[in-house]
Amino acid sequence: MAEQLIGKRVEVLDKGWIELIDLMPHPASKISGDLAIVNAARVSFLGESKGPDRDKKLLFYLLRHRHTSPFEMVEFKFRVRAPLVTWWQWARHRTWNMNAQSGRYTPFQESDFYVPDVWRRQSKDNKQASEGALAAAENDELTRELLDHYAEGFRLYSQALEQGVSKEMARLFLPGFSVYYTWVAKIDAHNLMRFLRLRMASDAQFEIRVYAEAINQRFFKRALPWTAEAFERYVLNGG
Ligand SMILES: Cc1cc2nc3c(=O)[nH]c(=O)nc-3n(C[C@H](O)[C@H](O)[C@H](O)COP(=O)(O)OP(=O)(O)OC[C@H]3O[C@@H](n4cnc5c(N)ncnc54)[C@H](O)[C@@H]3O)c2cc1C
Repeated sequence: MAEQLIGKRVEVLDKGWIELIDLMPHPASKISGDLAIVNAARVSFLGESKGPDRDKKLLFYLLRHRHTSPFEMVEFKFRVRAPLVTWWQWARHRTWNMNAQSGRYTPFQESDFYVPDVWRRQSKDNKQASEGALAAAENDELTRELLDHYAEGFRLYSQALEQGVSKEMARLFLPGFSVYYTWVAKIDAHNLMRFLRLRMASDAQFEIRVYAEAINQRFFKRALPWTAEAFERYVLNGG
């Protein structure tokens, strides 16, 4: 199954996506990611696979006892397209290695702005969070205003470029949090689980949660089925 994951792109939000561009161990090596973890752990006593049942048991033992370094032997490399609001939160996780598109080099396109489906209300008991949604008529009105705002920002951006302003300065006219960005990001399975735990949680912002959920459902669970099962049991459900 891992063979089919490399090159797979999953759409997220209105114009975003996430694509797995590489995986270590590479599927062509015929060693599954779960087995790479088990084999790394067994180097402690210079052994390798002892059959699926004992291997899976060992992997569960490792995660249950937070013996995390073997999980760093598996790496995922993604290409991500997401609004800057997502990028900003993602980039706080220092254990990702990243390389991002440069707005100094590549001009932005008019369609490069995030348009939410739903305007969420401010949560009453959590200053950082949102809950529920505005009524349909208000929702549509806000979306119209947002589109006008984007169009005006983009008009000023284009005008500045035409006047000879550099791309690095013209972008000051763009609505900052909404612009779509593309980056390449690599992380090992141990730190990916940490990221997923924090960013799939209900208190994470929707615009990053959907990316974390896409990684979990569409890539992590498929590349590392045993690890994902143990992660769900011992980390997400605290078993
Ligand atoms: C719901 C939510 C709300 C948030 N709100 C805010 C906010 O309002 N303001 C804000 O600034 N941030 C906020 N953050 C970001 C948060 O503070 C962390 O920066 C972010 O979640 C990354 O977590 P991390 O440090 O564990 O991950 P990573 O940076 O990936 O690090 C993983 C682990 O590696 C270790 N590590 C990595 N680098 C170092 C280092 N230099 N020194 C020591 N140990 C290191 C630590 O053990 C760390 O836990 C929020 C995060 C979440 C999930």
